[in-house]
Amino acid sequence: METEASEQTSSELVDSFGRRIRYLRLSITDRCDFRCVYCMSEEMTFLPRQQLLSIEELLMVAQRFVALGVEKIRITGGEPLVRQGLETLMRGLGALKQHGLKELAITTNGSQLPRHAAMLRQAGVDRLNISLDSLDPARFKQLTRTGKLEQVIGGIEAAQAAGFSDIKLNAVVLKGRNEDEVLDLVEFARERKLDISFIEEMPLGEVSDHGRGETYFSSDDVQAAIETRYPLWPTAQSTLGPSRYFRMPGSSTRVGFISPHSHNFCASCNRVRVTAEGRLLLCLGNEHSKDLRAVLRRHPGDEQRLEKSIIDAMQLKPWRHHFTTDGDVQVVRFMNMTGG
Ligand code: SAM
Ligand code: SF4
Repeated sequence: METEASEQTSSELVDSFGRRIRYLRLSITDRCDFRCVYCMSEEMTFLPRQQLLSIEELLMVAQRFVALGVEKIRITGGEPLVRQGLETLMRGLGALKQHGLKELAITTNGSQLPRHAAMLRQAGVDRLNISLDSLDPARFKQLTRTGKLEQVIGGIEAAQAAGFSDIKLNAVVLKGRNEDEVLDLVEFARERKLDISFIEEMPLGEVSDHGRGETYFSSDDVQAAIETRYPLWPTAQSTLGPSRYFRMPGSSTRVGFISPHSHNFCASCNRVRVTAEGRLLLCLGNEHSKDLRAVLRRHPGDEQRLEKSIIDAMQLKPWRHHFTTDGDVQVVRFMNMTGG
């Protein structure tokens, strides 16, 4: 049962622990042209299209969040650049900058950037995160199952040619798979003037490829590997949000660590997620959620009711996640469903 919409709305989103929510991660599809071993199973069943939020519904959700004080939106998936209607959506989101949106970002595997980078820049996308776990073509293929390294490198180059200067690489580090490439990835980022974040694998969904416990490699170990070559100096942003950032001598590249296991960041969490099917998720590592698609479809065009549902849902946001590294799957959703 949905709660009845009241006349009253507030202009900001605050959870029951006093954390102000300013950041929305919006997943626009669960589909992807890759099948990364830590994200998906080899055989995936994707949602029927009518279960996904339509482009109009996605825009309506984004508009309500911006009206409620959200300043940053990151578009993710699945692979966001394979979504039909991408251009209409991105132009609509770009227009929200006239209504309080300060930053529009995308997380992508990069494969479709050669054909979309210029449009995204024009639509008002400020920043890109591009996933890159290996610089070895054979290994890249193993990790992504269907991806081609050269396509992603081409995507990075297309984004830089289109004028994106704020590009960050994301690398998930797995023991026994790519932990020996940490320094090569850092060199690649330095040469191309990109930032890079190293991510600890999270136990979302049961992946067929490996037990999560087997492949756990901590951010502290990644940091130690980098420090064999470069000292890492903490930056002012090093304690904000889930990423801890560092600088190195002789380079503008920042190195980030996203460490849900070894450095819990929940106390400063300012974000929520909306899945491709319109489920508002209050925490990456928990199931607390609100079905916004039901509100949108039962009451088409009722902005106030949607806004009220979003405000009420903030009370469901839990204090923290409880990921462990012992290989247990604690959240049955896959990352492509969650919107990483
Ligand atoms: N397809 C896009 C991409 O790969 O960048 C966007 C969606 S993907 C789910 C977002 C990010 O989540 C990627 O950087 C990916 O490496 C990361 N990711 C996926 N599964 C993960 C897991 N189990 N643990 C940690 N990070 C994961
Ligand atoms: Fe696709 Fe991104 Fe998941 Fe890889 S991490 S399978 S690119 S959604």
